[in-house]
Amino acid sequence: MSDTESYIYRFSWDKEDLKEYYWKEHYVKQPEVLAYLEHVVDRHDLRKHMQFNTELMNASFDESQDVWRTETSTGDVFTSRYLITALGLLSKQNWPDIKGINTFKGELYHTGNWPKQHDFTNKRVGVIGSGSTGVQVITALAKEVKELVCFQRNPQYSVPSGDGPVSQEYRDWVNANYDEIWDGVRNSMVAFGFKESEIPAMSVPEEERQRIFQENWDKGNGFRFMFGTFNDITIDEQANEAACNFIKSKIAETVKDPEKSRKLMPTEPYARRPLCDAGYYEKFNQDNVHIVALKETPIVEVTPKGVKTSDGAEHELDVIVFATGFDAVDGNYTRLRIHGRRGESLKDHWESGPTSYLGMCIPNFPNMFMITGPNGPFTNIPPTIETQVEFVASIIRHGEGKAVIETTQEAEDAWVALCRELCEGTIFHKAPSWIFGANIPGKKYSVLFYFGGLQKYRERLTEVVKNHYEGFRIDYPTQESRL
Ligand code: NAP
Repeated sequence: MSDTESYIYRFSWDKEDLKEYYWKEHYVKQPEVLAYLEHVVDRHDLRKHMQFNTELMNASFDESQDVWRTETSTGDVFTSRYLITALGLLSKQNWPDIKGINTFKGELYHTGNWPKQHDFTNKRVGVIGSGSTGVQVITALAKEVKELVCFQRNPQYSVPSGDGPVSQEYRDWVNANYDEIWDGVRNSMVAFGFKESEIPAMSVPEEERQRIFQENWDKGNGFRFMFGTFNDITIDEQANEAACNFIKSKIAETVKDPEKSRKLMPTEPYARRPLCDAGYYEKFNQDNVHIVALKETPIVEVTPKGVKTSDGAEHELDVIVFATGFDAVDGNYTRLRIHGRRGESLKDHWESGPTSYLGMCIPNFPNMFMITGPNGPFTNIPPTIETQVEFVASIIRHGEGKAVIETTQEAEDAWVALCRELCEGTIFHKAPSWIFGANIPGKKYSVLFYFGGLQKYRERLTEVVKNHYEGFRIDYPTQESRL
């Protein structure tokens, strides 16, 4: 399930379709996202431009002709002036290296590769992980399985999602206000469509602060709770603690078993990607839903029968679900062979952690543009994708589709320094999450996002264009190559 309101979890450029395409609930679920994308492809007759079942194996920039040569798993070699990569922020699955994983005799799944069909009725299911995915999966599976054992490392802060059917009046309101809605999205920090707060948490009396927290809790959505309540939850420790205490009081109130409640109680600041759920904490009031606190009793090994923890317990299971997330942002790049000028590999360029200029370009990799590359904005993703696609299209058009366009090392260094500086001003770096590559053992800790928000990001892109594509070296086509 996406936790962005359905009416902005889509493309903004087909107004007629925006108004007509059916969506029934506040949030779209995976089959609906897929159906929507297929619908857009059909509606705009895009399938003829696509080649499926084709994996990019390697890509190299040929300096003698200023072209990219790209080889795929089908044996094709493509030659192109430009290479645009859209490999996905969160798609390379993270399978933790747990002893004995391959000895398990039951069913084993990763949430990033969920089976089209499954039947867990009467089965004992273990879920490892409690991030956005784990929380959703646990909430959904609790209804259908015989026993559910949740293996949780760091307890999370989750708020109600507020999902549910939308009325015709709601839909009419959205349709009548689409222009203003998109304007609000593009001129906001996290691009989730709600009004972001402009007041600091400590600027109001305690009673009012609790009222605002409660109001946003009732409306639902993690990003709304983090950015719609007060404007300093992610930057001020006192404000952050107030939000933590509010959510902790809800956990204590909801989870009746004191031992389960203790294990579910977060200990970190509220500083990861905010979560929301459809009754996660309530599910632990079911006798068949258990919680294992891995910080107290870590997993020792997976056995043929289940999962063994350090207290000697062997949790016998029929199914293990890994909701352990992704090698995020650069994970899909570093497993490929991408070579720029003088054969420099992307892996080498990112030796000290992934970097870019504006989240899209890398020095020594001319004419390569990444959509949602490292150091891009931390937002609802579709509006950021559109922003980057518009920029890439504009710069290619500016070079008449023939120029050699390359960012400079200075521009990349300055952008990376800005990303670090913005991040240091937040509380996000106090939790070791995928946002910093900290979820993958051995991966270098780095600031993978620009925390300035979508509005500031778009303003920066406008300035770059105004300043004659500042930060880029553009080798314009000659008269001869124009012909
Ligand atoms: P995630 O946030 O990285 O969470 C992974 C979970 O697995 C964490 O609880 C982590 O524990 C645990 N884990 C990882 N390795 C482990 C190990 N070796 N042993 C035990 N536990 C381990 O991944 P995700 O939940 O798939 O979400 C990734 C991102 O996808 C989200 O942050 C979000 O941006 C996006 N997403 C969005 C939605 C949505 O509602 N829109 C839904 C799903 C995903 P620690 O916390 O201790 O590291």
